Amino acid sequence: ELEETNKSLEEKVKQRTQELERQANTDTVTGIASRFAIMDRLSRCYLAYQRYHRAFSILMIDVDHFKDINDNHGHQTGDKVLHDLAMCIASNIRQPDSVGRYGGEEFLVILPETPGEQAHELANRIRLAVEAMTLTNNITITCSIGVATISANISDDGLVSRADKALYKAKNAGRNQVVSYASGMA
Ligand code: GH3
Ligand code: MG
Ligand code: MG
Repeated sequence: ELEETNKSLEEKVKQRTQELERQANTDTVTGIASRFAIMDRLSRCYLAYQRYHRAFSILMIDVDHFKDINDNHGHQTGDKVLHDLAMCIASNIRQPDSVGRYGGEEFLVILPETPGEQAHELANRIRLAVEAMTLTNNITITCSIGVATISANISDDGLVSRADKALYKAKNAGRNQVVSYASGMA
């Protein structure tokens, strides 16, 4: 009987652990990978690069003037927009690519085995798909995208910082555009 009780307890702990893992790995607003999960994916890609020289690129996607959407339509509508945007990004990538919610209205896409030029093209396809979407309350949005590709002597954090710099350029150049990191970018 004790054995039976132990078994069912073990089963409960296992199920609960799986549920907690699922929660930690999933963003509640969008249903896509959480920051925790996408950063874990990034470090795995980085390890593969170090060990096997498997190059990869990343995209940092940020909604343009998102604050206005919250201000004009409310936070709940803002959440819906984030959800639909996440679905749009997810439907424009494929295995083994992945997307996660990096921050408030920022999404990180990881593109294994993808050189910079291809990553830039994909980013532009995503940008156009986002621009073409009509969302709840007839809302339309645009996004800016920074692209960076792994290379020797930079870390995974360094790569994110490069994508951020490129994104910053895209914002400054007028938004709704894709910019790839180039050396010397401030
Ligand atoms: P920019 O074009 O420069 O990116 O302008 P922006 O308004 O998008 O950027 P800013 O960083 O000023 O504002 C981001 C906004 O995103 C502010 C914040 O209230 C909103 N936000 C962050 N997380 C969430 C969320 O989970 N849900 C909703 N509805 N809004 C969020
Ligand atoms: Mg923004
Ligand atoms: Mg932002």
